[in-house]
Amino acid sequence: MNRRRGPGVTNCASTFYNPPVPMIQTLRFVLGDQLSRCLSSLRDLDPLRDVVLMVEVGDEATYVRHHKQKIAFVLAAMRGFAGALEKEGIRVDYVKLDDPANTHSFTGELKRAVARHRPARVVATEPGEYRVLEMMRAWADMNGLPVEMRDDDRFFCSRAEFAAWAKDRKSLRLEFFYREMRRKTGYLMQGDAPVGGAWNFDSENRKALPRGHRAPDRRRPAPAPELGAVLDLVAARFGDHFGDLEPFVWATTREGALAALREFVAERLHLFGDYQDAMKSGDDFVYHAAISPYLNAGLLTAREVCDAAVAAWRDGAAPLNAVEGFLRQILGWREFVRGIYWTRMPDYAATNHLGARRRLPEFYWTGATKMNCLRETIGATRRNAYAHHIQRLMVAGNFALLAGIAPAEIEKWYLIVYADAYEWVELPNVHGMVLHADGGVLGSKPYAASGAYIDRMSDYCKGCAFDRRKRTGEGACPFNFLYWNFLIENESKLARNPRLALPYRALAAIAPSEREALRAASTQFFASLAI
Ligand SMILES: Cc1cc2nc3c(=O)[nH]c(=O)nc-3n(C[C@H](O)[C@H](O)[C@H](O)COP(=O)(O)OP(=O)(O)OC[C@H]3O[C@@H](n4cnc5c(N)ncnc54)[C@H](O)[C@@H]3O)c2cc1C
Ligand code: SF4
Repeated sequence: MNRRRGPGVTNCASTFYNPPVPMIQTLRFVLGDQLSRCLSSLRDLDPLRDVVLMVEVGDEATYVRHHKQKIAFVLAAMRGFAGALEKEGIRVDYVKLDDPANTHSFTGELKRAVARHRPARVVATEPGEYRVLEMMRAWADMNGLPVEMRDDDRFFCSRAEFAAWAKDRKSLRLEFFYREMRRKTGYLMQGDAPVGGAWNFDSENRKALPRGHRAPDRRRPAPAPELGAVLDLVAARFGDHFGDLEPFVWATTREGALAALREFVAERLHLFGDYQDAMKSGDDFVYHAAISPYLNAGLLTAREVCDAAVAAWRDGAAPLNAVEGFLRQILGWREFVRGIYWTRMPDYAATNHLGARRRLPEFYWTGATKMNCLRETIGATRRNAYAHHIQRLMVAGNFALLAGIAPAEIEKWYLIVYADAYEWVELPNVHGMVLHADGGVLGSKPYAASGAYIDRMSDYCKGCAFDRRKRTGEGACPFNFLYWNFLIENESKLARNPRLALPYRALAAIAPSEREALRAASTQFFASLAI
C-alpha cells in the first residue's frame, strides 16, 4: 500500500488561479539503515520540489533469514522515520512490504518510482554494504537520469580518509588509528596529549562482577504506534525465521533511542569500563549500552553518543576509565572496522588464512547444548537479537575459532542473528577479530581462549555439566581440549607469532601422550556434533 502524498492542491484556492503542481526535482532514496535527519542525501532537500523514496523490499528481508526482531526493528524504524519526515511537511513515497505491486528489489522499486515521479535526478547516500553498492552503481544509467551518490558522513572517518591513513602502512592497528581519531575530534584531549596521561585505562577495566552484584535492569522501551502492525506482519511472513519476536525489546523511534542513550549514560556508563568484559547468567546486557541497532540504523549518531559520554565525564557523573573505554568502542573500533571493510572488500570476505572448514553445529540455532556458556549466549541472542561483545567474541566466536568453523558459515550466522548486524561491521569483527581468517589484517592474533577465561569473567562454569578444570577425560570442558587442539592444528601458521609465544611455550611443555589425548578428545567431540 502506498502512502504517497500529493503536492497538496487545495479546494479553497481562487477559481481563477490554480497553483501549478511543482515538478519533482529530486527523488531522494533513503535506505533502511539511513534513518538520520542529518543524512547527506536529505541535506539540501526542498519540501516543495523533492520526494523522499523509502521501500520495504523482500530481497533485503530474506537475502539471509534475519532474526524476527531484526526485521521488525528495521521496518518499524523506517515507518517511524517516514512519519516524522511527513510531519515536517516532506513528501514521502513509502512502499510497504505488502504492496501488491512491490517488485521486492531496490532497483525495481527505484525504476517504478522514477516512472511515477519523473524526477530530474536521483540522490542517495552511499550504502553500508558492498553488495548494495554494486547494485547502486548500476543505477547511474537508469533511464539516462543523473544519480548522485553522496558520502555517508555520519562517520568520523570518511572512506577516503581511512584509505589514506592505511596506505603504505605495513600493518593496520586499532591503537594508532584510535589516537588519530582522538586528535582529530579533540575528545578527551588536552592539547596534543590524552586527558589523564594515557590513551587507555585497560589496566583498571575488565573486572569480573563481584558475587551477588547485579547491573541495573534495562528498561523496555514504550512501543511506537506502528510497531503492532509490523509485529503482525513479521509473524505472518517471517514466522519461521530464527529468534523470538516477542517480547520485543528495542525502541524504533529517534525519541526512544535517545531515551535509551540517556538511561545508559545515567545508570550504567560509570561502570562500563570496570565490567565491560564481565558475563553473568540471566543478565543479557550487564553494563553495556545496547545502542548498536540505533547507531547502525541511524536513529542515533556516533557524534551525539560520544558527546553524551564525554559530557558525563566532564560533569563528574562517570570516571575517565569508563568514558575512555566506551569512546574507544565507537570512535575507535566502529570506525576502524568500517575502514577495513571498505579498503579490503570484496577480496577480504574470501580469505581463509587458517583453512577452517567445519560446518556450524546445529546448537547455534537451537541453543540445545550442555555447554552452559554457549547456552546462555545463544539464549540471549534468541530472546533479544543481541548478545554483548564478550559473549560474541569469547563464547560464540571463540568456540567457532577453536572448532575451525568455515568462515562463511559462522559469518552468515552473525549476520542473521543480531539486530545491529550489517556486513560492514559484522564481517570484519567475525572474519578478522574472531576467526583470524584475514591472516592478521585487523588484529595481530586470534583471541583463542580456554575455559579458564570464561570461568574468570563469568559465573557460567558453575552451572555447567562440564568441568572447566579438566583438560581431557570424562566431563572435560570442551573449550579446554579444543583450545590445545587449535594450537596444534594451526602450529605451522601461528607458532611464530610473537603474541602467541606464551601459549606455544606451554604447548611445548605438554607430553606427547597428552597431546594425543587432546587431539583424540577433539576428534571425538567433532564427530559427536557431526561437523
Ligand atoms: C563476532 C562479533 C560480531 C559482531 N558483530 C557486530 C555487528 O554485526 N554489528 C555491530 O554493530 N557490532 C558488532 N560487533 C561489535 C560489538 O559486539 C557490538 O557493537 C556490541 O556488542 C553492541 O552492543 P552495545 O551497544 O551494548 O555495545 P557497547 O559494548 O555498549 O559499546 C558501545 C558501542 O560501541 C560500538 N562497538 C563496540 N565494539 C565494536 C566493534 N568491535 N565493532 C564495531 N563497533 C563496536 C557499537 O556501536 C556499540 O554500540 C561484533 C563483535 C564481535 C566480536
Ligand atoms: S565449563 Fe566449559 S563449557 Fe562449561 S561454561 Fe565453563 S567454559 Fe563453558
